[in-house]
Amino acid sequence: MAKYDEPLLNEIEEKEEEEFLEGIERKELNIPNLAEREVIKHFIHLSQMNYGVDTGFYPLGSCTMKYNLKLLERVVKNEKIAYLHPLLPEDAVQGCLEIMHRLEKMLCEITGMDAFSLQPCAGAHGEFTGMLIARAYFEEIGEGDARKEVIVPDSAHGTNPASAKMAGFDVVEIPSKNGRVDMEALRHALSNETAAFMLTNPNTLGIFEKDILEIAREVRKVGAILYYDGANLNAIMGKTTPGKMGFDIVHLNLHKTFGTPHGGGGPGAGPVGVKKHLEKFLPVPRVVERDGKYYLDYDRPHSIGKMSHFYGNFAVLLKAYAYIMLKGKKLEEAAERAVLNSNYLMEKLRSIGYEVPFCSRRMHEFVLSLANLKKRGIKALDVAKRLLDYGFHPPTIYFPLIVEEAFMIEPTEDESKETLDKFAAAMKKILQEDVEILKEAPYNMPVKRVNEAMAARDAILTWKDMKK
Ligand SMILES: *Cc1c(COP(=O)(O)O)cnc(C)c1O
Repeated sequence: MAKYDEPLLNEIEEKEEEEFLEGIERKELNIPNLAEREVIKHFIHLSQMNYGVDTGFYPLGSCTMKYNLKLLERVVKNEKIAYLHPLLPEDAVQGCLEIMHRLEKMLCEITGMDAFSLQPCAGAHGEFTGMLIARAYFEEIGEGDARKEVIVPDSAHGTNPASAKMAGFDVVEIPSKNGRVDMEALRHALSNETAAFMLTNPNTLGIFEKDILEIAREVRKVGAILYYDGANLNAIMGKTTPGKMGFDIVHLNLHKTFGTPHGGGGPGAGPVGVKKHLEKFLPVPRVVERDGKYYLDYDRPHSIGKMSHFYGNFAVLLKAYAYIMLKGKKLEEAAERAVLNSNYLMEKLRSIGYEVPFCSRRMHEFVLSLANLKKRGIKALDVAKRLLDYGFHPPTIYFPLIVEEAFMIEPTEDESKETLDKFAAAMKKILQEDVEILKEAPYNMPVKRVNEAMAARDAILTWKDMKK
């Protein structure tokens, strides 16, 4: 080993460090001098200002804010798992690999797909992965240049067109008819330039696309891929599968339907499943089993490559695995209850006087239109803000874009009839309140009505800016 002058080296490093710190080093810190008692009071108070699925009803449509079992948190906090290093050799993590392998098989069964990759870390990330798979497929069969377009309905989640565009496709939007895919518009848009049709079913209005088999036939006729946005699988899990409906690629949001809280920008997982003919394009590594041992297989020449750090967000995957194991056959019951709750609340609100556009039954969620309140000068935003005063998290508003003053409610399977009745009672009261009251709401919150235009234009992101 080469000898070098250690003392000299240290001197140089010290000098460099001094120069580096010059100007950025703080001489004194203004740290408040408080007793533990005061600190605890402060932080507990902050935690009480927070609203979450554990404190109340959270009907945020398209987000599936279901109750998350505390047992699942205990499972992922298990020391034997939580402290594993992702670079441990395969031999040392056989259990984890087995869990991943089994979870892939379970997701295959739940969706009717033939193979899954657990790598993508969000719904949008799964969509992007799916679109790259579609591209790889067409390149493989020599139609890479020809298949330029991805079709999405106007009720689609905004991530769908974004993902297609990111993967290099042109996005073609088609209008809906009575809240469902307009078959005429679809036939018109499909051609041998179509790479894929991205669809959510039940769609974002909570309506089941009952023409789905016909849709699949039309898409297949032009040689395109049918992509399933399965972010919210709550309505159909255990009942039917995207595979049966004719879909070729699926992504799921484990952080909506399968046991991980959604929101706050925390880790998620958006596994992607495919039919047999697309399996070879899935991201590497794949988890494979040979003679009772599990391996990470990188030897997949057709793979689109790696889509994330290591193997995805393992804790989220583990929670999904535990959730499915725990529910077993009851997954189907969860779907039934989610749909029942949604239809119960929808009818209740309709009977109070709220407008539900498009008449058919709903699945796991429904969308009201508050457009007729506009005559009185009331907007969906005002009703949403007023709900806060009654102790409810507001629904999703102004999405999907095809409903004017949209008010999108997803109660999930976990809410009791009492909660739904209370929510409906609050909605009824709001309907009878004066415009002036609604315009200024909320009154009981730590933060009152925010100036949203300013908030977007002049974001205050640290406490330092706040003092300005
Ligand atoms: C939530 C959602 C997505 C996106 O999922 P992210 O994890 O937020 O990227 C896509 N499609 C639908 C229908 C969704 O509800």
